[in-house]
Amino acid sequence: MAESPDNSAGRAASEPLPGAADVVVVGAGAIGLATAYELSLRGVDVVVVERDALGAGTSSGNAGFVVPSHVLPVTEPGMLATAVRGMLRGGGPVTVKASLRLGYLGWLARFLGNCRAAAVAAAAPVLAELGNLSAGLYKRWLGAERIECCYAPNGLLHVYGDARAFAAGRHRAEWEGRFGVPSQVMTPSQAREREPALNDAVAGAVFYPRDAGLDPGRFVSGLASVLKRRGVRLACNTAVLDARMRSGQVRALLTSRGEIRTEQVVLAAGSWTPALAAKCGSRIPIQPAKGYSVTVRMPRRALRQRMLLGEKHVAVAPMGDRLRLSGWFELGRFDRALPKARFAQVEASVRSRLHLDAELVNAERWAGFRPVTPDGLPIIGRAAAPNLAFACGHAMLGLTLAPATGRLTAQTLCGQQPDLDIGPLSPARFQ
Ligand SMILES: Cc1cc2nc3c(=O)[nH]c(=O)nc-3n(C[C@H](O)[C@H](O)[C@H](O)COP(=O)(O)OP(=O)(O)OC[C@H]3O[C@@H](n4cnc5c(N)ncnc54)[C@H](O)[C@@H]3O)c2cc1C
Repeated sequence: MAESPDNSAGRAASEPLPGAADVVVVGAGAIGLATAYELSLRGVDVVVVERDALGAGTSSGNAGFVVPSHVLPVTEPGMLATAVRGMLRGGGPVTVKASLRLGYLGWLARFLGNCRAAAVAAAAPVLAELGNLSAGLYKRWLGAERIECCYAPNGLLHVYGDARAFAAGRHRAEWEGRFGVPSQVMTPSQAREREPALNDAVAGAVFYPRDAGLDPGRFVSGLASVLKRRGVRLACNTAVLDARMRSGQVRALLTSRGEIRTEQVVLAAGSWTPALAAKCGSRIPIQPAKGYSVTVRMPRRALRQRMLLGEKHVAVAPMGDRLRLSGWFELGRFDRALPKARFAQVEASVRSRLHLDAELVNAERWAGFRPVTPDGLPIIGRAAAPNLAFACGHAMLGLTLAPATGRLTAQTLCGQQPDLDIGPLSPARFQ
């Protein structure tokens, strides 16, 4: 695999580094910040350490979908076939990097072992519970803390361009219904009523009324401001380089700006977590899956509905006066390249279903890395070192599941009964 991307070189941090904290959270993405917030609600003294600028990981440029409907894990059985088809076509929306690295091959074998109906059906209720907890917490947090982030609870429309894909979409919705996910099958004209910018190349759609969305960059920066007001210390542009261990416990983290002594550590570093885990004597199986987004000024014919273009695997997300298009799932790619061809493919996919201006303006191009586990479930809970916890591995649902993850992690660290059974999410399942 390519060397992991790191933007932090040459950036100076201004505030002095705290020398000690009850809890150090590593990573200021949605998951790390949500964890720090829930810890602060419990009166815990927290420092968040972030290698780069706030939100520089994967939490800012994503599609911003908050989708409790998404109970189908990334290990869905059709995944491999889609990847192979894409690769034979020379780069479809889902690809798997070819590499002979033993660790990577071992991870792939485990992943493929979970691309089975029974494994997926076992994961679905876990994701459903997490998603429902998170959706409720989003409403509570955004209201209580007045975080302005274009939150819009107006559902998600899965749009399909041909009869076969539409049939698969209906089948998926029926299956999701078994896990309590409500949905409504729509004709092309009903879909166009919800989103008039859809063109005639629509065979049908499925609407998920309980879903929502927001501008993830504004959510991350808004939550960070709340944390600062609550006295949580944020040490940005500060990389954790190593851990000082004693008697099997983490005693201090060694950073690029000095040492922080601590009672407990939470690793919430997304796709970068395995390297940090190794420094603390633990192994966790996460592979990055690279994806892209381009954010443009809202076209003249403004879009109002958040959409997923089914067989195209592309998300369309209105965010106030901007529109974000995102997609691609390149398993095993870990580099910051922004190939023009990818953005052209994403835009072409969207143009094939929607009326857009001839030219999209103010394009901001971005790439991020979904942290994927072999069973498609996040890793939440304590590791072998009793004062080390993980909050990572959320794949394509990290924004959706951030509040629930923060709450469950804080409850675990504070010795409280977690709201949900976190047994299926334990890092121990991979030992
Ligand atoms: C194209 C795309 C679209 C997506 N759309 C959605 C969506 O619509 N809805 C959804 O729910 N999810 C979506 N996701 C997934 C979601 O973005 C991720 O699951 C989520 O951002 C992961 O959050 P995180 O906090 O775990 O990691 P990150 O946001 O990556 O944060 C980890 C942080 O750790 C820091 N770090 C790493 N190493 C160190 C170190 N040594 N010392 C200090 N700090 C360190 C990094 O700099 C980074 O800021 C999408 C992902 C992609 C790529």
